[in-house]
Amino acid sequence: MEKESQHIEDGKSTKEDVRGSKLVVLGGGESGVGAAVLAKKNKYEVFVSDKGIIADKYKKVLLHNDILFEEEGHTAGEIFSADVIMKSPGIPDKVTLVQELLNRKIPVISEIEFASKFTEALVVGITGSNGKTTTTMLTHHILDKAALNVGMAGNIGDSFALQVANENYDKYVLELSSFQLDGIVDFAPHIAIITNISPDHLDRYNYNYEDYINSKFRITMNQTANDYLIYDADDEAIENWFKKNKTKAQLLPFSIKNTLKKGAYIKNNDILIQTDTNNTFTMSIAALALQGNHNTKNAMASAMVAKLLGVRNGILRESLEDFESVEHRLESVLKINGVQYINDSKATNVNAAFYALESMRTPVIWIVGGIDKGNDYTELLPLVREKVKAIICLGLDNSKIIETFGNVVDFMIETAGAEEAVKVAYKVSEKGDTVLLSPACASFDLFENYEDRGNQFKEAVRQL
Ligand code: ADP
Repeated sequence: MEKESQHIEDGKSTKEDVRGSKLVVLGGGESGVGAAVLAKKNKYEVFVSDKGIIADKYKKVLLHNDILFEEEGHTAGEIFSADVIMKSPGIPDKVTLVQELLNRKIPVISEIEFASKFTEALVVGITGSNGKTTTTMLTHHILDKAALNVGMAGNIGDSFALQVANENYDKYVLELSSFQLDGIVDFAPHIAIITNISPDHLDRYNYNYEDYINSKFRITMNQTANDYLIYDADDEAIENWFKKNKTKAQLLPFSIKNTLKKGAYIKNNDILIQTDTNNTFTMSIAALALQGNHNTKNAMASAMVAKLLGVRNGILRESLEDFESVEHRLESVLKINGVQYINDSKATNVNAAFYALESMRTPVIWIVGGIDKGNDYTELLPLVREKVKAIICLGLDNSKIIETFGNVVDFMIETAGAEEAVKVAYKVSEKGDTVLLSPACASFDLFENYEDRGNQFKEAVRQL
């Protein structure tokens, strides 16, 4: 019987080869447990190992499927006897256990790689520094409205592996982080999207931006001439990559700055989509459900997928008009005394906050701060000068924000919680202003995660 290691190297084997092989899953979360269930279904010997505590809901699934597991530690004997390891995206490569596995030449792959072996479904894979979730949800919304049998996975809902085990979709839209892509070997989406690239998660890439960029481009490394790569032609990091590297995939760029021969661009306040010469689609930007330059780009990328998959223009237009915004991404909360409150808690880096500020049409009270991932705020200076009248810091250490913007805005204050920040915002705002939570930082200093931060913000606004 062939082993998974050969399976990975030669890339030709089929489902049958793996029967009787041992899969060890590191990390008993959504992706790990999904992969375990899928592997069990395909007759693998499966063992799940987690350094921390496995959440009850996942333990139940493991027990229900008769899958062996351990928590609060790893048993070397169990792990090193694996034929293949599925590592959760949260575990960095540099940890000793992973290094030891690599030394022993045991393949370490991601859930996406593993699950893709067990489905013939057409995959649309979406990566990028910002806009992944929005573009994934928008693309899924369009394809779903066009009555295609399409699933959606990534950071949203059930894992890809679990859906491959339990569902029968013939298409998937997948949100792919660079960590998922780091663990692919043969995975090749038929349509790939790179929404944009800006520095993020550099701690996982030895503070080397080039490594992070290359990681994003792994999405296209196994694509063939029958596949497509959709990308932001206005993005410097992406354009630079193309100067030195190639892909076999057919290129479909989008731009809000330049006219393109093929792809998507703007003409007279319309988006114009042209995936091939006989097939065009136009629509007014003002009619798009999601506003702001960044969302126009997301819409262009999603619309190109729709056109490639044969969605009719009428349905495409309707879906781009009626898509409901995604929670915590420029989400309108309430208007109180003529002041609009917006929750953009998912803006965990400078680039996302840039687009949020750019899309503001009124004076802004900006709530910003948290855990800074090596942020350089200077690119925000022109927008802050133009639009921001007050800054409310919402982090434990706000020194860099104070240093950068202290002399730029009239009012600046530090707060230590969502409720306090909202109350101050309420006091300093006037009719016609917007209170924008767009932190440009991670949330772990004062909150559990970005959802908790957004929810606390919304609750505080509702209590005003
Ligand atoms: P991701 O899944 O990549 O983190 P999200 O769709 O969750 O992306 O959006 C994260 C943040 O980035 C939000 O603040 C959102 O408003 C902003 N954003 C969305 N699309 C883009 C884009 N194309 N470019 C820059 N920022 C974006």
